Amino acid sequence: MIICKEPKLTDAQLVEVQQIVAEFGCTIQVIVGAHRCVYAILGDEQHELMFNRLHGLDYVDRVDRIQSPYKLMDRRGQLATHTASIGTWEMGKGTLFIAGPCTVDPKNPQALFETAHALKEIGVHVLRGGVWKPRTIPYAFQGDVKSLELMVEARARTGLPLNIEVMDSEQLDLAIDAGVDMLQIGTRNALNYSLLKDIGRKTQGRKVCVLLKRGRHMAPIDEFIAASEYIVANGNPNVFLCPRGTVPEVQGLRNHPDESIIPLLKDKTWAPVVYDPSHAVGRASFVPLAALASIVYGADGVCVECHIKPSEGIGDDPKQAITPQRMQKLMADVAHVRQIL
Ligand code: PEP
Ligand code: MN
Repeated sequence: MIICKEPKLTDAQLVEVQQIVAEFGCTIQVIVGAHRCVYAILGDEQHELMFNRLHGLDYVDRVDRIQSPYKLMDRRGQLATHTASIGTWEMGKGTLFIAGPCTVDPKNPQALFETAHALKEIGVHVLRGGVWKPRTIPYAFQGDVKSLELMVEARARTGLPLNIEVMDSEQLDLAIDAGVDMLQIGTRNALNYSLLKDIGRKTQGRKVCVLLKRGRHMAPIDEFIAASEYIVANGNPNVFLCPRGTVPEVQGLRNHPDESIIPLLKDKTWAPVVYDPSHAVGRASFVPLAALASIVYGADGVCVECHIKPSEGIGDDPKQAITPQRMQKLMADVAHVRQIL
């Protein structure tokens, strides 16, 4: 839809606009209003260059897309009936609970196993655990491939599917070989299109899920959904969207909590939305509240950092992990809240 600066285009301007869209197989339909005309673009609107050329015309005020820029993720698209599932959880049948340590400590396997057992007991569906860690400072602990073996062992002992973050294609291959059930793309890689494509291609036809975190610097919702389109367009429709807070952070919190975007996401796309309250607020005592807020906003699930003894954990665990006991109360509270929604 083209809105021009003057009430209507001159004949010469209209011809110019028609010529541009014709190059991309589209036509213009003029809609005559009482005070001004608008110009509808008929045809496939997926051509970025067509929009850039129209935007570049000095007599054009705005060009709005009617079609969604992401065909596959769109709620009205062909995948709208796709039902996401992982382990014993299926979309639409209750809340998905993902929980586990921020970072697996390769020197303390017992902590991971005890955490995993406790989480299994209380009914968590997926065990999360950072093997390779994206750290702000290069001298901080970056993870250890031994932790991958520990996660695989934790799955063997509990039957819980695994969620592990991968940051490059080498880690992706190792995680796929280990049969990781849910691959996480972290906030720092949310716009790493080559990694998104790679993950889509390499997991095509496999029952592997992808948890895509919202980029910390991502503003528009469409950018987030369009990033997930890369994974789906390259072969894997099992994508979960995970808001986790953005910049600028609220003073005293780790990020700017963004659970209020959940209804917007649900409006635009069919993909399940799993909220990460742990990185959004960054303080264990606030995590359950943020998790409950996300449920009120319509989240399909939550991904919570959890540790049997947070003070003995590494990475984010001492400051933001909650105990399995606190997680159990949160799960009961979620069930209550869902009853009144
Ligand atoms: C994490 O899940 O531990 C993590 C590093 O998340 P994010 O990418 O959202 O910071
Ligand atoms: Mn973390």
